[in-house]
Amino acid sequence: MDTPVAITLNEEKLLDLFSSFKDGIVTIDENYIIDSVNPNALKLLRMNESLVKGKRLPSLFPSNQLNLENFLQNVNSSLHYSDYRNYFPEHQRWFQFRAYPFNKEFSVFIKDVSGQIQNEQILSLEREVHLMQATQATLTHMLDHLLRGLEKIFPSYHAGLLELSKSGKLLNDLSSPSLPSKYKEQLVDMPIGPNAASCGTASFIKKPVFVSDIENDPLWKFCNQTALEAGFRSCWSFPVMDSKGEVMGSLGIYLSEKKLPSADEIKKLERFSYLISVLLEHQRIAQSIQLSDEIYKTVLRATNDAIWDYDMETKVMQWGYSLKKLFGHDSENTPYTLTDWIDDIHPDDRVRATSTFNTVINSDTLHYWEDEYRFKKADGDYAYVYDRGMIIRDENGKGTRMIGAMQDISERKKSEFILKELNDTLARRAAELEASNTELEKFAYIASHDLKEPLRMISSFLQLFESKYNHSIDAKGKEYIRFAVDGAERMKELINDLLDYSKLLKNITEPEWFNPSTELEEVSRMFNNEINLSNAKISFSHLPEIYANRNQFLQLLQNLIGNAIKYKSDQDPQIEISCKSTKRHWEFTVSDNGIGIDKEYHQKIFDMFQRLHSRSKYSGTGIGLAICRKITELHGGSIHVESAQGKGSRFVFTIRKLNS
Ligand code: ADP
Repeated sequence: MDTPVAITLNEEKLLDLFSSFKDGIVTIDENYIIDSVNPNALKLLRMNESLVKGKRLPSLFPSNQLNLENFLQNVNSSLHYSDYRNYFPEHQRWFQFRAYPFNKEFSVFIKDVSGQIQNEQILSLEREVHLMQATQATLTHMLDHLLRGLEKIFPSYHAGLLELSKSGKLLNDLSSPSLPSKYKEQLVDMPIGPNAASCGTASFIKKPVFVSDIENDPLWKFCNQTALEAGFRSCWSFPVMDSKGEVMGSLGIYLSEKKLPSADEIKKLERFSYLISVLLEHQRIAQSIQLSDEIYKTVLRATNDAIWDYDMETKVMQWGYSLKKLFGHDSENTPYTLTDWIDDIHPDDRVRATSTFNTVINSDTLHYWEDEYRFKKADGDYAYVYDRGMIIRDENGKGTRMIGAMQDISERKKSEFILKELNDTLARRAAELEASNTELEKFAYIASHDLKEPLRMISSFLQLFESKYNHSIDAKGKEYIRFAVDGAERMKELINDLLDYSKLLKNITEPEWFNPSTELEEVSRMFNNEINLSNAKISFSHLPEIYANRNQFLQLLQNLIGNAIKYKSDQDPQIEISCKSTKRHWEFTVSDNGIGIDKEYHQKIFDMFQRLHSRSKYSGTGIGLAICRKITELHGGSIHVESAQGKGSRFVFTIRKLNS
């Protein structure tokens, strides 16, 4: 009696089990007609029991009906369980069927394996893309392939990838193999922002944006028309970020139904967005490497330096084209090694150059090496070179390479050498000149000083001779004596002026602060007679205190004012003295309304003994202005004249200010 009860219980348990099974379970008879179905099977098929029961199982799956028939047929004949797996578009899912034969009937387990299949497909798609990358496919090819693959794995998706412009403000279509062309047309320069549809907003906020109702979502308010016309109802966007977290673009998934992504979908799409970011970043790095490589090559060709690249690990040294151009060493056909370089350094410079080089190479802290040395060219001549290199270190600070440039400075060295020779000669000449000047000045001083005495004797004996023998000398003899006295007188003047000139360098008194007006008054007193006779007028405005040698300054004014009176025109002499201050000098002007000086003589008059008139017309020795020039030079200044014949003269001289 117990057994039926037990069986009943077991049946109940079995039914419980049948109902609670995670997979869908369907039992079918030999004609594949459905006997029973568990709730999960109904859930998977999205049908209720009445629609299912009594139906042939394959007929529920029109897209795979024939395949299922064959599958069940095979199981039936083999009497062994078997699997069938395929995509079922009517369910938008991958199902796996496992059928167990039992007395011509079957138990069929149905399982949704979409997730698993998608993962496998994604993995193999990733592999394909990496393979394309390895075979240097273009970015567009890889992205198109990836998005097509994505759409194949998720048949209800349409994918589009937008790239963010360099300005970081505009999005443009980068890959959208299946988007309708009308929709693609508008994917140009689309601004990003907080309300810029799905992709524009995702790029702006750097987070995914899921819009399940394009028609009514405020984010799409201003641009939903074309999307709706293309049949899209929802759009999910994932920002594509680089390794620094900067947005490079946005992956958009469009669906024709109103839908939000499941957690699993989000996870998978994020995986796609990550793969895209890797592809984009790789491309950018490759581009920048290519660019810098091109720049490097262009620099190598354009530069006049021999560029070298020393690999510190392999000890291999590579050279740019200029090694041949400049020094004749052909490194393209036979390598020009580190040893070749060392060998070609001049023996006298070798130890120094290589030891400074090695110091930098072996240091953890030094980055830069430079040296100048003689370098043997292929033809055996030596060139002077300026060589410098920079160390490139890895992330641990270990030096890996040293990049350098060797410059031929032979021409510069030659000019430097010539310049040095020239400077040396100049310095020698200047020293010789100074010595001979000093000698000359010494001589002039001694000569003029010593000449004074015999001259005085000549003059006084001539006078004595004239007074004593006056009565016995005829008129001719008296004339000769007058000539001799005049000559002696003139010689005295010359000697005195020469003495004044040479004294300038001998008896230099200390400079002092004084007001030049005092010296001017002194000069006026000295020329009192001449001023009265010629009716001259000397005027001067306010003059600043100056720091100079007072006696010399007095002599300077005396010569200039004396000349201004001496070389007067028909008019009464008008002499004006003024002074202005410049940055480094006091600039004095002594102007007159005298006979003036022709432009031709403006320089000459400052030379010793240079006179423009005969002594019969104007007395003088031609030393006065030479003294003026010397005094201004001794005061760190200069003198010049501005004048024209009959137009008066303007003598301008400068005195350097103290501390300037
Ligand atoms: P000296 O007056 O003894 O001849 P200077 O050296 O003083 O010698 O002057 C050189 C020459 O410059 C003068 O002979 C004269 O011809 C000319 N000279 C100098 N000062 C004036 C001036 N103020 N006006 C015109 N000529 C001048």
